Amino acid sequence: MEKEKKENREANVTFAIPNEVAVVANTLEKKGFEAYLIGGCVRDMILGRKPKDWDITTNANPDQIIASFPNTFYENEYGTVGVVNEEASDETLKVVEVTPYRLEEKYSDNRRPDKVIFSGKIDDDLKRRDFTINAIALKITDKSDKKGLYKAIIIDLFTGIKDLKTGVIKAVGEPTERFGEDALRILRAVRIATELGFSIEKETESSIGMTAELLKKIAPERIRDEFVRILMSDNPMTGLNLCRKLGLIKYIVPELETAIGVDQNQAHSYDVWEHILRSVQHAAEKKWSNDVRLATLFHDIGKPVTREWSKEKNDWTFHGHDLAGSRITTKAMARLRFSKKEIEKTVKLVRWHMFFSDTEQITLSAVRRIVNRVGPENIWDLMKVRMCDRIGTGRPKESPYRLRKYQSMIEEVMRDPISVSMLAIDGAEIMKVTGLSPGPKIGYILNAMLEEVFEDPKQNTSENLNKMAMMLAKMTDTDLKKAGESAKENREKKEQKEIDAIRKKYWVQ
Ligand code: ATP
Ligand code: MG
Repeated sequence: MEKEKKENREANVTFAIPNEVAVVANTLEKKGFEAYLIGGCVRDMILGRKPKDWDITTNANPDQIIASFPNTFYENEYGTVGVVNEEASDETLKVVEVTPYRLEEKYSDNRRPDKVIFSGKIDDDLKRRDFTINAIALKITDKSDKKGLYKAIIIDLFTGIKDLKTGVIKAVGEPTERFGEDALRILRAVRIATELGFSIEKETESSIGMTAELLKKIAPERIRDEFVRILMSDNPMTGLNLCRKLGLIKYIVPELETAIGVDQNQAHSYDVWEHILRSVQHAAEKKWSNDVRLATLFHDIGKPVTREWSKEKNDWTFHGHDLAGSRITTKAMARLRFSKKEIEKTVKLVRWHMFFSDTEQITLSAVRRIVNRVGPENIWDLMKVRMCDRIGTGRPKESPYRLRKYQSMIEEVMRDPISVSMLAIDGAEIMKVTGLSPGPKIGYILNAMLEEVFEDPKQNTSENLNKMAMMLAKMTDTDLKKAGESAKENREKKEQKEIDAIRKKYWVQ
């Protein structure tokens, strides 16, 4: 064992370790402690990727770590101390996480050690880490002659370096046991494999299959964080397919599982599941945001429950899948503890993802209404979701002409009033000119005016709206409400007809 360990301690490797990190390790060593860079940062440096955060492991205990630095805070229940450097050059360097060596502890609940035991030996700490590529430690020995580089010794007690070279995720020790201790490791394996484009070693992979059910015990927000990282990787399609192959989808978003094998109509080359994956992959290729990727993931989740065979068309239909999808999305995201804000935005994008079809026929007033519904801050993301949807269908990219046309329509209407707050009159003014007192009627009047202005933005002058207010004020509440609603309904029906005609023409649902 001693001999094997020695062989794995290579000297004089140089690394571009940021000064902010080297200083933390150095400070601990000057106080007589050991300090090693460990985990994802070592893995990423060796791969030439930018680390997301920096971890140091040490034989100092939390109190000793805290006493060594001017600005620290307790990070978690595992003894981790955040060492703060407000002046750091990069966000990822503002906090360096320092954790005492830990022993592999007993886990009774498949997610948390019963108690945390510190150790005096680095070897113990490496043994309790999840994967071989995450269990490589670096000891800084010296500054290199080359600027910005440090000399270091690599400690690789398992097969970390080899597995990094061959692109393999392999559990440290007995995989079933390790996943049983902390089932989140199951998703970490898939997430890290997806991010790095690695494969999962055979025994580790089959252990995932055997222990997957333990994910039920993991806090939804931890599952969400790993899942979002799969979506945010360069290859979410590969990651989602891996989740499917390993039987993990039902512990993440079970509703997505129902999309597998659901065939679509003639416009589609793929089943709903593959269509969704291809759409999300396009968002990744475009490096689009979290929000766009989530909405794209969920956009057709209402299809499996709304699919009906149409004798007339001799094909499948999915009427109302956008509305059904928005409801399913709300539930799935709430379960995963997404924030209210994220849920609201995603749901809006899912709800209205069917909007843009043909600029020749979609009227400006319809575009105003959609901007009003999704909000001006979300309209461009809605366009992106639609582009992903189209690519995911297997059809060619939209013509640049048509895209430009959409864009110019949106830009044009964005200058027009698209909510009551943008009308040239407000509630107070209405009350002044009409003598009405505060109440729901003011709201009905404002909405009726907005409907008019959607049709013709030129109507939005205070002179015009003052006149309109006088007229509308004479109507009873009920009539006013009815008039507003029926105007809206008529227009919506008209628009729906136009949209239906377009969809028919393009064979889309
Ligand atoms: P990234 O920083 O890119 O998210 P990472 O592997 O560094 O990836 P962290 O959450 O920063 O992930 O964890 C740092 C290190 O702590 C890991 O590399 C691994 O050695 C160890 N680790 C993290 N989570 C676990 C776990 N659930 N079980 C065992 N070891 C873990
Ligand atoms: Mg990390």
